[in-house]
Order: sequence, then C-alpha cells, then structure tokens
Amino acid sequence: MKVLFAVSECIPFAKSGGLADVAGALPKELARQGMDIRVILPKYGLIDNNLKARMNKKAEYTVEVGWRKQYCGIEELAFQGVHYYFVDNEYYFMREELYGYFDDGERFAFFCKAVLDSLSHINFQPDIIHCHDWHTGMIPFLLKFECKEKKGYECIQTVFTIHNLLFQGIMPRESLKELFGLKEEYFHIDYLEFYGCINYMKGGIVAADKITTVSPTYKREIQTGAYGEKLHELLQCRSHDLEGILNGIDLELYNPERDPFLFKNYSWNDLTNKRVNKCHLQERLGLPINEKTPMIAMITRLTKQKGIDLVKHVFRELIAKDIQLIILGTGDDEYEHFFQQMEAAYPHKCKAYIGFDEGLAHEVYAGADLFLMPSQFEPCGLGQMIAMRYGAVPIVRETGGLNDTVFSFNEQSREGNGFSFSHYHAHDMLFTIERALRFYWDEACWRNIVQHAMAMNYSWAQSAEKYKQLYSELISRREIHVYK
Ligand code: ADP
Repeated sequence: MKVLFAVSECIPFAKSGGLADVAGALPKELARQGMDIRVILPKYGLIDNNLKARMNKKAEYTVEVGWRKQYCGIEELAFQGVHYYFVDNEYYFMREELYGYFDDGERFAFFCKAVLDSLSHINFQPDIIHCHDWHTGMIPFLLKFECKEKKGYECIQTVFTIHNLLFQGIMPRESLKELFGLKEEYFHIDYLEFYGCINYMKGGIVAADKITTVSPTYKREIQTGAYGEKLHELLQCRSHDLEGILNGIDLELYNPERDPFLFKNYSWNDLTNKRVNKCHLQERLGLPINEKTPMIAMITRLTKQKGIDLVKHVFRELIAKDIQLIILGTGDDEYEHFFQQMEAAYPHKCKAYIGFDEGLAHEVYAGADLFLMPSQFEPCGLGQMIAMRYGAVPIVRETGGLNDTVFSFNEQSREGNGFSFSHYHAHDMLFTIERALRFYWDEACWRNIVQHAMAMNYSWAQSAEKYKQLYSELISRREIHVYK
C-alpha cells in the first residue's frame, strides 16, 4: 500500500497550527506500522537552513498554471523514517509567512498541479493520494475530472481530510480558467461553484473517494447548518463516504519525562518537578513566584474560533480571582491588543506573550495547572491533549474534538480528566473555571484529576490503524471496480 500525503504544512519544516502536527505525526506512525508513505509539501523560505541543506534535488519540470508556465523543482529528504518531497518555486514559496497573501489561490493552484505532475518524475506510484484542507482540495478534483484518462493516474484513489471547514479557499470565478485552465461547465453547483465564486475545499469534498474529518463530533456537527459553513448539505449528501477519525499527538515530542524544553522533567507519579517548572516559568515571565497560585494558560491562535470573546467578556471578573493567567498566541489585532492592555493593567496576574514560540509553549504546558480552550467550534484540537499529557487540566467547551477527549469531572464518581461547559456563554465558562478552582484547592482531589488527565492515551497508534483500514477499503473498492 503506497500513500502520498499532500499537505501545506508539516513539522518540523513549517507550522502554523495543528495541521502541521498531524502531517508530522501521522505519516511517522503509518511508516512505523510498515506502510510506504511519502509526504509532499511546499519548500517554504522559512524552513530551517540545516534541513534545507540536507535536501537533494530529484526533478525539475514545468507546471502550467493557466497560461503561465512555471518552474517546479522537487527536492527530497528522508527524515525520521519518512520520505519527504518539497515543491520548489521561489516566486511562490520564498516568503516570510506560509499563507495570507493576495495570490494564495494561485500559489496553491500551482502546488496542486505540481503534486499531480510530480508522479511521473519522482518514481513513486501511489495507490492513494491523501489531501488535507483547502490548499490541496483541487488535487482530488483535477484527478477525477481531468487526469483519469491519463496513463498512471487511472487507479489512484483519493482521501480528503477536513481539518477546519472555516477556511475553504474561496476564489474568483475567473480562477477556473485563469489558474486551472478548466472548462466553464465546472462553474456549476454540482462541481466548484459556491455563491458566485469557486471553492477549493468544495472541490475536495465533491471529488474525493473518501472524506474524513478529525473527530467524530465534528463529523456530526459539519452536517448541520450551525457548523457546516454553507457546505453542510453537500456533506450530508456525501455522508456515506465521510468518517470522523480523532487526531492523536506525538507522544515522543510531547513527553514531560524527556522534553528538552523543560527546566525539569517529571512524570505522573511525582509531580514535584511540575511545581518547580511552574515557579521557573513565573520567574521567567516576571510573575510573583508562588507554587500555590493556580495558573491558567491559553496557547492558541487568537481568533474568534477559539472563544476569545468569552474570555474578553468576563476578563475583569476572572482576573479578580486568586489566579495567574498566561496567554501565548498570535492572531487578530483586536485580541492581541486586548491581552497586551490587560497585561499592562494587571502585570502581577496576567502575561500575554504575543508570538509563536514552540519552546515557550512546552514550558507553559508544563507549568500551568489549568488549560483554557473555550472554542466556538473545534474540529479536533491538540492543545487540550497536549495539556493533559503535561498535567494541565483542560477547561473546554463541549464541541468537536474537545467533546470527544475531555470528560468533565464528576463529583460523585470522582471520574473525569477536565472540566467542560456546553453553551457558548461567557458566564457558563466563568462558572466552570470557578468550579475547577474549587477542586484545585482540594489537594488530594486535584492530584487525582491531574493524574487521570496524564494517564489518557491520545497517541496516534489507534487513529493510524483507522486510516490504514480506510486505505485498505479504498484499494479493495478499486480492485472490485477494475475487475468488473
Ligand atoms: P489549531 O490547529 O486550530 O490552531 P490545535 O489545538 O489543533 O489548533 O493546534 C494548535 C497547535 O499549535 C498546538 O500544538 C499548540 O501548542 C500550537 N500553538 C498554537 N499557538 C501557538 C503559539 N503562539 N506558540 C507556540 N505554539 C502554538
């Protein structure tokens, strides 16, 4: 079974969020389980130079992006048991950020076409191309409607994984011809048309042989008007080919017993060093050093999705409590400014680190007692799983993957690995934080909750098994088809 993973970000090369974690960890696990899996992604300018120096040129060819003929290089690198290919074009990818440019539609049109064209150059004939999010949504579409007759492409099956339905890659109608050279007939509701534009993610959903998303709850949610981002009816139509497979986390990367970013390593059976890390973090951030003060952390993109409005709404009530609050994140100016102002107003209680810092993130997971994730929606969410691994008890809203991974503490049965609330309501969140803080002060009870959280096993092993089953199913489906 040969699988090509096409993705726009992947650790350790380029990361803006959880997608990169998934693209880094899942192939590693599948390779460990014996599959021939390769990953293809853009060669961004911001990839570490040491990693770039280890890449070898594999091929060069020209990619047609509408009327343009663009250079495309393919570089390869074997890294930690996985084979990676990098699509090289400096005009498109030698930029400071991964996304957010006026020509993202063109950049990822190029990427999708470069991936499909690469197959005749890289000496790798995949059974399955597994695509992720809107950046690669046009790959299944082009494969199904434009390449199926081409030699070598007839039998390739596609999987399209929705990591976040909010971002769809909605482009002007003209892109159809301008970027893909596609016929006008595809500007139709059954294909790419979406409220007068074209939609790359819709292309993936329409054309992929199987669609997955990253948690069972999100799979249900996206088929409703409330969460479906105007694609719910299409998803309902394709529900027999839609699966929800929970993401995992890389237990080697996120391991408090061996994490090199931590001041002191620790494990679930001795939490003394967790408190040492907390004091170290307080000192580093200039907060009063007190191992008893409950420390609440958020490590997140600062966007509406993440429930920042709830925190804003009750901020003064929250900060009046005996707590310390740490925010590590980047995102919308409005939220960045708000937290900077709150840090200035409450310097002994609130620290806002506006930026993206992997090392600090590990230290914060290790130092924090509570991890707040009150998302409006959350396809899977990795933050809460990482937090649990480091003994920071999650407080979450019951949505998407948060609903599938955090089980609210039950006073009667004494079971639960965190705290949760259901309505998107600021005072429900505040009440849940207050409830968690009450248990925090009961030392034995708190130790039990922390240890319960740390004992959760959100490794990739089980989920990778499910993806393997899905791939096998697709391959046998193809064989039946070919046989017929
Ligand atoms: P999303 O993919 O929606 O941003 P997830 O919870 O799935 O959210 O994944 C977020 C990942 O990005 C986690 O690994 C988290 O630790 C990391 N992260 C988010 N913001 C920052 C930041 N400012 N600095 C370092 N790591 C961050």
